[in-house]
Amino acid sequence: MSEHFNVLEMARQQLSIASKYLDLDEGLHQVLARPKRQLSVNFPVVMDNGEVIVFEGFRVQHNTSRGPTKGGIRYHPDVDVDETTALAMWMTWKCAVVNIPYGGAKGSVKVDRKQLSRRELEKLTRRFATEINIVIGERGDIPAPDIGTDGQVMAWIMDTISMQAGHTTPGVVTGKPVDLGGSEGRVEATGRGVVVAAEEAAKQIGMNLNGARTVVQGFGNVGSVAARIMADQGAKVIGVSDARGAIYNPNGLPIEELYHKYSGRDGGIQEYKDCEIVSNEQLLELDCDVLLPCAISAQLVKENADKIKAKLIVEGANGPTTPDADQILNDRGVFLVPDILANAGGVIVSYFEWVQDLQNFFWEEDEVNTKLARIMRSAYSAVAQARERHKTDMRTAAMIIGVHRVAEATIKRGIFP
Ligand code: NAD
Repeated sequence: MSEHFNVLEMARQQLSIASKYLDLDEGLHQVLARPKRQLSVNFPVVMDNGEVIVFEGFRVQHNTSRGPTKGGIRYHPDVDVDETTALAMWMTWKCAVVNIPYGGAKGSVKVDRKQLSRRELEKLTRRFATEINIVIGERGDIPAPDIGTDGQVMAWIMDTISMQAGHTTPGVVTGKPVDLGGSEGRVEATGRGVVVAAEEAAKQIGMNLNGARTVVQGFGNVGSVAARIMADQGAKVIGVSDARGAIYNPNGLPIEELYHKYSGRDGGIQEYKDCEIVSNEQLLELDCDVLLPCAISAQLVKENADKIKAKLIVEGANGPTTPDADQILNDRGVFLVPDILANAGGVIVSYFEWVQDLQNFFWEEDEVNTKLARIMRSAYSAVAQARERHKTDMRTAAMIIGVHRVAEATIKRGIFP
């Protein structure tokens, strides 16, 4: 059984748990357990040395009951159709939990981006966009960046689809550069949303975030923004990491300096001197109040869940906690805000970007941030209430809300024909 098969199994198990709470009809459960559409493509790219390489890619649309589908495109050597399907399912619940009018989708190309020149990356992107053009579109399915893709890749996709349409269609992707119809505040949106979720959770459990000792795993888009805003609001960020390793100072780290002076260097944040170098494993087990896993999946696992000292965990990454670890942390009374709620800021502001593109009317950053925080707080409150009502944990409560909203939409629309 491959690891990716397990990811889809994990997503289906989570759905089964929520379905039991909701006493969902078995037929409806089966509708939600499967993707509506899976497109698999194999396409050639002429590399810089003249060699032709065939790449494999996917676009999976999980559910369209609540609106067009939305979800990132990932470029990574390990992707497959099952992992892409699981990620599309999570997008469906995430959009429903924060109550934005989308279903979930995900796209992927099996490629190591680091092995491509810029020209090859552009050619691969334009060809993949052309291959999936039959299922994406500004009214049907709107991609966004994910691991291995960025604003430039989105600009190439937008341009490719526009060339084929004969006119500019900015609404076909989100996460674009601001001068091409991107939204102010989109880059920071996920990290900003993580901090809003942390604030709400702290209120709920009676923790003061001012001075709270905080550890952030991952210093990329999500982690660096979350760390900077946490520090700005008075938290003491004592540990941060990237793929190369982690740094720790119990008196607090200068996050702005790390971001501006060190994160772009070849040696990264480890070149900062006034700290102790620790491993990523040690980082997660540091004595702290708040832990923000903002790197990759499966970081809090059966083997370390007993040793985590944080009282509050807010999941910036997708799937950082395995089900075994979830159980252990829950039994130990650690309060955890799950990914489908905590990191929804990105898709919320992607939604704002799409709305702005369709209207050709653009908002100020303050307006974006205010509306983002309002949606995050209202979603948090709904999940916290569901947790009370069903006497369960925050992850199950978020799943119950997400699945319930999608199921209701499916029932109200009816099964065609
Ligand atoms: P990113 O590539 O910008 O940053 C990832 C960070 O994690 C980097 O600092 C990297 O060095 C570090 N990292 C990688 N491997 C690691 C390892 N083995 N141990 C420790 N650190 C490691 O990516 P991102 O956009 O910040 O995304 C991070 C996570 O958040 C992913 O799980 C992603 O799916 C999720 N997410 C991102 C967004 C978004 O808007 N960017 C939205 C929702 C969820």
